[in-house]
Amino acid sequence: MKLYNTATRNLEEFLPKDPKDVKVYTCGPTVYSTPHIGNYGAYVYWDLLIRTLKANGYTIRRVLNLTDVGHLTSDGDTGEDKLEKGAKREGKTVWEIADQYIGVFRNGFKKLGLIEPTKWARATDYIEQSKALVEKLIENGFTYETADGVYYDTSKFPRYADFARLDLENLKAGARVAYSNEKRNPSDFAVWKFIKPGEDHAMRWDFLGRPGYPGWHLECSSIIHTELGEPIDIHTGGVDHIPVHHTNEIAQTYGAYNESLANLWIHCNFITINGEKISKSLGNIITLEDIEGKGYSLNDYKLWLFQGHYKAERNFTWEDLESAKNRRLSWRNKVALLFQTEPKTNLLDFKAALLGKLNDDLNSASAFALIDASAEQMSLDDWTYVNELFGLDLIPEDVTETVQPRIEERNAARNHKDWATADYIRDELLEDNISLLDTAGGTFWQIVG
Ligand code: AMP
Ligand code: ZN
Repeated sequence: MKLYNTATRNLEEFLPKDPKDVKVYTCGPTVYSTPHIGNYGAYVYWDLLIRTLKANGYTIRRVLNLTDVGHLTSDGDTGEDKLEKGAKREGKTVWEIADQYIGVFRNGFKKLGLIEPTKWARATDYIEQSKALVEKLIENGFTYETADGVYYDTSKFPRYADFARLDLENLKAGARVAYSNEKRNPSDFAVWKFIKPGEDHAMRWDFLGRPGYPGWHLECSSIIHTELGEPIDIHTGGVDHIPVHHTNEIAQTYGAYNESLANLWIHCNFITINGEKISKSLGNIITLEDIEGKGYSLNDYKLWLFQGHYKAERNFTWEDLESAKNRRLSWRNKVALLFQTEPKTNLLDFKAALLGKLNDDLNSASAFALIDASAEQMSLDDWTYVNELFGLDLIPEDVTETVQPRIEERNAARNHKDWATADYIRDELLEDNISLLDTAGGTFWQIVG
């Protein structure tokens, strides 16, 4: 299996330390508002990664974190904590906001049919471990204190710029007002923030003799250290994580434990609308509810994502979602027909060829082309394999169970020349998007929506 490793900028053969315990960490959402389809896109891509790893026989231990403290509106060390902002917006406590949006996120995750991580890790459940990490950094001489907090001195980590190919000189020249005068280098970042007297920050813990809260990047290093042990096999995230968040996670783990954080880093790109990144601030968000509200299944959205590649920016349109829906419908109907006809034998080498496509850096688009080319010959077992790899709800088994008895009722009515009942059943099924086709060989059904 080959994956593109951001750390080396190379397509690499994936070689986990222990195939029976492959350690995967995914940077999760900041739980302060309803996620949009762009946010969920990342988790859909990583679900394909997990399913592909499983199909290759690996056993996975995966942690997904939930950021419920410390992520400031600037993504740096200034601005308001997003959780505090959410609390003010909704007139609730920060803890209520965190609980509420953890629920919203996990519900969306479930509705998308994504495989649950081995562990959901909430940042505020790791405060003691995060403090211990800061203490290590202090002890090892990687930090300095300002009035604002404890900062990581990035000049102490010689390879700081390597991961994101940062141009630190340029950063310095461009920084001028962008960073506080107390910072020694523009790339330095807070590992712990102090709460000043009178400052409005409800989430607070005593540490170093005063109240404060962890810096945003800290949780990922401390959760990985606690739950998985570094270096992990795969660390996933969005491209926007590369220059700051992941660069800083790596720096923290190096400074505290003299360890590399992950062997392979994989990053997905953005979903755009009219060429602009979907984001709350641009006001162009589409939610999972919007997708469903327009009569689409969330599986149509997943299929649309898989028609492209995780590394490519994708521009979302409703027209393209419609064509994804049609492709999914045509696949489901191929399977539906298999429930109504003689069983087919498995297609020679199909499964191995399909997995081969995904083993090539998750080339789902190429896998889909293979499915289209093979669809007429595929057996139910072949389709089941497709369904396990992509999680697209392609097997209409439940439909079969409800439709078949209705067709038999209708046949009985027709035998009695009770055309009214027969038509009634046909219309009723059509309302459930099932259309009937009477042929000399019997009545067949099809899904039409
Ligand atoms: P945010 O809540 O805006 O910080 O988003 C959380 C994460 O979701 C980001 O770090 C990105 O990796 C991802 N994300 C945000 N917007 C998009 C988008 N339009 N397309 C894909 N991923 C996104
Ligand atoms: Zn992270």
